[in-house]
Amino acid sequence: MEDYILNNDVAMPKVGLGVYKMKSEHEDALVWALNHGYRHIDTAAFYHNEELIASAIRKSGVKRKDLFITTKVWSSDVGKKTNQAFEKSLQKLQTDYIDLYLIHWPVRGYLESWRTMETLYKEGKIRAIGVANFEQNQLEEIMKQRTIKPAVNQIQTNPYLQQHALHEYLVQHQIQHIAWGSLGQGSSQLFQDQLLSELADKYGKTTAQIMLRWSIQLGIAVIPKSVHPDRLQQNLEVFDFQIADGDMNRISTLERNKRGINDPNNKLFLWFLRFIR
Ligand code: NAD
Repeated sequence: MEDYILNNDVAMPKVGLGVYKMKSEHEDALVWALNHGYRHIDTAAFYHNEELIASAIRKSGVKRKDLFITTKVWSSDVGKKTNQAFEKSLQKLQTDYIDLYLIHWPVRGYLESWRTMETLYKEGKIRAIGVANFEQNQLEEIMKQRTIKPAVNQIQTNPYLQQHALHEYLVQHQIQHIAWGSLGQGSSQLFQDQLLSELADKYGKTTAQIMLRWSIQLGIAVIPKSVHPDRLQQNLEVFDFQIADGDMNRISTLERNKRGINDPNNKLFLWFLRFIR
């Protein structure tokens, strides 16, 4: 597995395992993934599966020091409750440190959360701190107040939502871009896209592998989710081929700026998130 080196010199595997919606019946898949090379797990308090992750890690026998665990503070805890939420995540994950701790959405109070996270980072309880779903204007607020620069921004990114402008901003500020939904959350439109299918045939890979490799060649980390061993395996096997520049350019023409209701600049949506558990 290859790593990206974050702006504080911490190494993060380029491919991780997204675990949104994974439940106890998926524990075998988690153990399988850990035993077949996954070292980076992307969970969140909101996924209500941090205890399951701890259990799968225990069963896999993989050592804590060999893992990179990301979790996130949920919107109802942004602001004053961040410290308490962090302690809860530590307890559920059965660990005494988190590799990467993120603010899940830019809801009101995120500057206060950021200050708490800076303290936890300085105390050595978190190896890297970052944000998710932050637009440039929201990141700039943090950049003005911070003593520690965000290490990452985890944002929805795939060939139909390429995030060019925000990606450039992240590169310029050495903030690692992590893609969520890098497979369009299983969208049949992306999986049936004519160009992506043509490239899958050309490179002898699957459409999923083309999408993941495209992200990695742009310097973006990916955290695809699957509970099926064959797909878990496929999603790791993206380091043995290279998409040619001309084909990368062809993929860039697929941009549709296509996202669901979850627009981080939609104030009503952000307000609503604070009431969801
Ligand atoms: P994804 O784009 O990773 O798509 C996952 C779906 O793609 C699977 O459910 C399956 O249907 C399909 N799939 C996976 N591998 C495949 C393969 N090889 N071949 C064919 N189909 C395949 O979507 P996601 O799960 O929403 O995102 C990944 C992870 O990102 C999540 O699990 C979570 O950890 C994280 N995430 C973060 C946020 C955030 O707000 N920060 C939001 C959503 C997801």
